[in-house]
Amino acid sequence: MQRQRRRGPRARPRQHFTPVPWPRNPMRWLSLDYFYFHFTNWPNPKGRNGCYLCYQVKRTQEGLSWDVGTGVFENEFYPKKPVHTEICFLNWFKTQQAFLAQNLSREENYHVTWFMSWSPCFQCARQVVAFLRDHKHVQLSIFAARLYYSRSPQYQQGLRSLQGAGAQVAIMTPADFAFCWDIFVDDPLRPFRYWKGIYINSCSLSKSLEDILRSSVVVAKEWTAEMQQQHRNQDLTPVPRPRPRIKPKTFDFNFQNIDSYGRKSTFLCFKVERWENGSFLGYQKGVFRNQLYSDHAELCFLDWFCDVVLSPDEIPCPDVQYRVTWYISWSPCFECAEQVAHFLKENRNVDLCISAARLYYENEDVQGLRDLVDAGAQVAMMAPEDFKYCWDNFVYHWGWRFNYWNNICQNSYYILQEKLDEILWD
Ligand SMILES: [Zn+2]
Ligand SMILES: [Zn+2]
Repeated sequence: MQRQRRRGPRARPRQHFTPVPWPRNPMRWLSLDYFYFHFTNWPNPKGRNGCYLCYQVKRTQEGLSWDVGTGVFENEFYPKKPVHTEICFLNWFKTQQAFLAQNLSREENYHVTWFMSWSPCFQCARQVVAFLRDHKHVQLSIFAARLYYSRSPQYQQGLRSLQGAGAQVAIMTPADFAFCWDIFVDDPLRPFRYWKGIYINSCSLSKSLEDILRSSVVVAKEWTAEMQQQHRNQDLTPVPRPRPRIKPKTFDFNFQNIDSYGRKSTFLCFKVERWENGSFLGYQKGVFRNQLYSDHAELCFLDWFCDVVLSPDEIPCPDVQYRVTWYISWSPCFECAEQVAHFLKENRNVDLCISAARLYYENEDVQGLRDLVDAGAQVAMMAPEDFKYCWDNFVYHWGWRFNYWNNICQNSYYILQEKLDEILWD
């Protein structure tokens, strides 16, 4: 049966904002605090949700090369649609007088260098690749402080495609950080402070990047089944697999919608149905949880879904219709929401219903939820019957009936659903 979107009586479509130029892009300088905070190269620092891109553009004409300009971009977001720094840069670059100049001679070209706090995501990688293909006279070098979702195959492929399109992709060395300090930080009198681990982190990230880029050699060759298997065996990031069910205690603790204290993991129970002979048939189900140090449960699902369901033999079947239902202990964070929304736009044959036990939101996450709905997902809070459904289908219950915890109906669900309605429709 089709799940109904639960909308409050006050529900109305969200108003669209008139786009205005992001006030700060491009900036001339980055403040000292921002530089240290966003460019630290610890592998997984907390709270670095944004991305900063320091650029340097050089123009070469008749064998002479000179600086055209330097500056800093940051992600654009609320109230506009989020735009990542790379795309902000390209949009801006295309409007520049120097770039627009017609009749460029053959010897004339641009060299663009980016120093980025995070390496590009796969969506941006795709757009940058398209740009490089269309603009052969632009050379691009990307130096990243950290690798973004480096264990996700999609992100790895994004980095390889950048390299394939002629871009140089590398990790920032301590010398690069010091260079950025001199050029982009608004405090020239203070010397650059090397932080603890800067060298070791840079080396180990370089090694990871090398491994990611090197596998393109394998990808480029024809993939026999054997090679594919071999590659999977030694792959750093095997495609995550769901577990069939979870323990009653795990379910009770993580799906409680009253208290969020200590509930740091996200559990995602899913059901995939496939349209066959005029109706949806149950097809696959299971449970994902956050992988430590890597993807959130939602992205694990997407990786698995693409690999196992959508294109099991590398042959996508766009004619088959799928209905996916998620029961998730926390609503998706902004990053995941953006990726899921993007996935839904690219795969129109997939419908997604998300029911969350608890709401996870700060400013950006709210926008993520709205974008999910804009991309066609149904988003709701888990109602009492949903908890029972999960217990019956995703928990090793050994025949025990689900015990509703106190207040599950009266308080938590209704309060949360009202809050969600406010976020989505007000
Ligand atoms: Zn991006
Ligand atoms: Zn997430």
